[in-house]
Amino acid sequence: MARKGAVVVLSSLVDGISRGVDRVTGTVSAPFTDPVIRLGVTGLSRAGKTVFITSLVANLLDRGRMPQFQPAARGAIRAAYLQPQPDDTVPRFDYEAHLADLTARDPQWPESTRRISELRLSLKVQPGGLIGSVQGPRTVHVDIVDYPGEWLLDLSLLDKDFAGWSAEVLARIEDRPGGSDYLAELAGTDASARLDEPVAQRLARAYTAHLNAAREAGYSDCTPGRFMLPGDMEGSPVLTFAPLRAVERPGRHSLWREFERRFDSYKRNVVKPFFRDHFAKIDRQIVLVDVLGAIHAGPRAVEDLRRAMADILTAFRPGRNDVLSRLLMGRRIDRVLFAATKADHLHHEQHPRLTAITESLLREARDRAAFAGAEVRAMSIAALRATDEDRVTHDGAELAVVRGRLLGSDKRAAFHPGALPEDPAHLLAPARKGAEAWLDADYEVMRFAPLPLTLKPGEGPPHIRLDRAAQFLLGDRL
Ligand code: GDP
Repeated sequence: MARKGAVVVLSSLVDGISRGVDRVTGTVSAPFTDPVIRLGVTGLSRAGKTVFITSLVANLLDRGRMPQFQPAARGAIRAAYLQPQPDDTVPRFDYEAHLADLTARDPQWPESTRRISELRLSLKVQPGGLIGSVQGPRTVHVDIVDYPGEWLLDLSLLDKDFAGWSAEVLARIEDRPGGSDYLAELAGTDASARLDEPVAQRLARAYTAHLNAAREAGYSDCTPGRFMLPGDMEGSPVLTFAPLRAVERPGRHSLWREFERRFDSYKRNVVKPFFRDHFAKIDRQIVLVDVLGAIHAGPRAVEDLRRAMADILTAFRPGRNDVLSRLLMGRRIDRVLFAATKADHLHHEQHPRLTAITESLLREARDRAAFAGAEVRAMSIAALRATDEDRVTHDGAELAVVRGRLLGSDKRAAFHPGALPEDPAHLLAPARKGAEAWLDADYEVMRFAPLPLTLKPGEGPPHIRLDRAAQFLLGDRL
């Protein structure tokens, strides 16, 4: 009798726990359905989202290279498999095709993220401790949601009006790539004149060209984000506007009024639905950041990255943003990881410096965003290691280098990107002061091709700290 009582108590405890998880994840589910963790993966384009998800899934399916991912290391994960995703209308992340690219005899980088996509990975997990002794393995679904970071930056538009946004953009674009071309286009335009669609299109095209060029040059703060990744909205009126110089009392059918209307429509029909339908459902978030790319692009790009990180952080702290608070309806992301990607471009001796710079960027972004809320961490990772480490002698000094196959050629090259400073302030202070170039150093980047892989059974692709990232994002929930 006593035994039976104990079991009853335990099972209600288990029930309470799974319900607790459901409450946190907010999935609409009956008390006994399987818990779901929705993991958001974002970052500006080319930050490494596609490679990250592909390698993460491959390494969760075959966990031989995940020693720091505790549920795998302690053997709690009994099985892992892909399942149909819960959302029928969101494209599926094309895991198999991306993995095939990376593991081909002549490996290629997969095609990058252009839109939102989703993938469900299910894990059979044996609970530990007392609960584990009375309960068999339970299934936990990890729903990975991949979306462009550019869409997240649009959050800053929600509490701006067209006039305010225009003024801010026009104040900063002059010395950014393509900025003066857009300003020249604008100079020949009368915003109070009656709307002429070809003029509107020309302005939108010039402005979009500027956004793409600025992104290419390493700038992060580029809105509206959907202009760069339009998907099937390309050419629609909601993406055919651009910042204008203020005019006094614009007429009803003027270019200014129409662009103002389209700006509002963009917020209502593009930005809000994304936050309401996708962002609001995420529990854990990883933001991938190409910190090395920004350092290479120079101080302005680093400063801009810091601002973009702060803007992204505000998305995770809805308290200050009424519109977003309403869209999220009390839901909250409880862990955010900012991961500097492509750390395999550096010898591991330099990894702590890259992490320190990322942490410092994060700290400053945090201060700017007055962030309090989710647990936030910074890390340096490489989702797919494309290099080996080596030492070479150069000008009589020994250099720690990485070696890899150069993209687009068969050549292997040794590479030293320049020594990152031990003190992150040596980079961040000039960036903040608006320096145009690094004073005493040059930081190179190089594009390596993925190395041909020979994977042993049970092993996923080689990586750097992907297991630690998985531990922070998922470990405690398994
Ligand atoms: P996305 O636009 O965020 O989906 O970015 P991708 O995942 O497509 O990555 C963009 C590019 O960055 C790839 O084509 C690779 O050249 C490079 N890259 C991404 N991850 C890694 C990595 O772990 N190591 C190295 N060496 N390069 C990477």
